[in-house]
Amino acid sequence: MRTADVVVIGGGIIGCSIAYHLLARAGRLRVVLLEREAELGTGATARATGGIRHQFSSATLIRLTRLSLPAFLRFEEEFGRSADFVPHGYLFVTAEPDRLEGYRRAVALQQSLGVRSRILAPEELRDLLPQLATADLLGGSFCPDDGSADPHGALQGFVTRARALGLEVLTRAEVVAIDREGERVAGVRTATERYAAPVVINAAGPFADRVAHLAGVEIPSRPYRRQVLVVEPPPELPEVFPLIVDGDSGFYVHRQGRSALVMGGTDKDSRPGTEIAVDWEAFEPVLSAAARRVPPLAEAKVMRAYAGLRDLTPDYHGILGQIPEVSGFYVACGFSGHGFMHAPAIGRLMAELIVDGRARSLDLAPLSPKRFRAGRSETEVQIF
Ligand SMILES: Cc1cc2nc3c(=O)[nH]c(=O)nc-3n(C[C@H](O)[C@H](O)[C@H](O)COP(=O)(O)OP(=O)(O)OC[C@H]3O[C@@H](n4cnc5c(N)ncnc54)[C@H](O)[C@@H]3O)c2cc1C
Repeated sequence: MRTADVVVIGGGIIGCSIAYHLLARAGRLRVVLLEREAELGTGATARATGGIRHQFSSATLIRLTRLSLPAFLRFEEEFGRSADFVPHGYLFVTAEPDRLEGYRRAVALQQSLGVRSRILAPEELRDLLPQLATADLLGGSFCPDDGSADPHGALQGFVTRARALGLEVLTRAEVVAIDREGERVAGVRTATERYAAPVVINAAGPFADRVAHLAGVEIPSRPYRRQVLVVEPPPELPEVFPLIVDGDSGFYVHRQGRSALVMGGTDKDSRPGTEIAVDWEAFEPVLSAAARRVPPLAEAKVMRAYAGLRDLTPDYHGILGQIPEVSGFYVACGFSGHGFMHAPAIGRLMAELIVDGRARSLDLAPLSPKRFRAGRSETEVQIF
């Protein structure tokens, strides 16, 4: 048997950020990270398209981006490598009056929290992308400080620094059991080893509900497939333009470097499950929404497609904190498609919780594992 102060289950962006922030806050801790795959970051993190936005309709999600963005902006200074943050902006558009009203309320909330988002009239939308079909649009919302970064680079930054601070990483180490002593967690087991630890953190991403079951706990986070279509950028489109979200269809498109565009976003109503084979038929609504909203995309050559899993919760907010029934067992999951952008904040908040006994940087009640029972959840409607 081996011992540790903290065991982190899962080597995606969330587990690596938590491990780094724990060690940066309390270097004396012995932290072990267990990842079931041969490499770190091959789960949801490898599929994330890297988007970072302030444009949410929930104060908590806006605050999580406000807490995380500085880390992306000065990533190279802190981690010795760039996370390639590009502030290309996000533009949400709509042809529906009620949705535009929703954007107005969201922008008012964002602005009250210091975000530079604003509502745009239909004639202003074309300035951001002249190829956008705007005839039916009533308006949109735009934030120039939204953008995207590189999930792989960010994960490597966190884990490299964490290793330098003493993190022990074990790959091909699937956690198959979680030991409890009554109402306390006692450690975890892999097929070959037992780790005794007073603190265990479940950062297993889309598999976090299964890992929670190992401790006899139910958490309302479920995996949902999300597909991405990668196409060649039509020559009519500029090299940099905002990530466009058509709020009415869910369709989004954004540039990924010089040679690719990624698009998707109409598959949010699928059923839970861990299947990630590509369903080509499900791209039909994506292609028709693309052709309707950005007509040059009708001719775009498809390069490839892939699918990954997003861990969704009933209110599209992550679950962060100690599980009330099992002292010492923490969870950081259910980030509902925002886990990459919020990883710096989540790592910091988890480190505050564990090292200081309470989160100092944000009120965690809207993310608490207890909220579903207390009926206190904050509904996020701006998901796509
Ligand atoms: C197509 C797609 C696009 C996305 N785009 C964005 C975006 O633009 N912006 C954004 O912020 N987010 C985006 N996301 C969401 C983002 O990818 C996730 O929120 C984030 O990567 C979650 O990180 P994680 O570390 O929690 O999960 P993961 O990266 O899945 O890491 C969990 C790890 O736990 C391991 N694990 C599971 N079970 C066990 C076990 N029993 N023992 C040991 N290890 C285990 C897994 O192997 C995995 O490596 C997107 C997701 C998808 C699928």
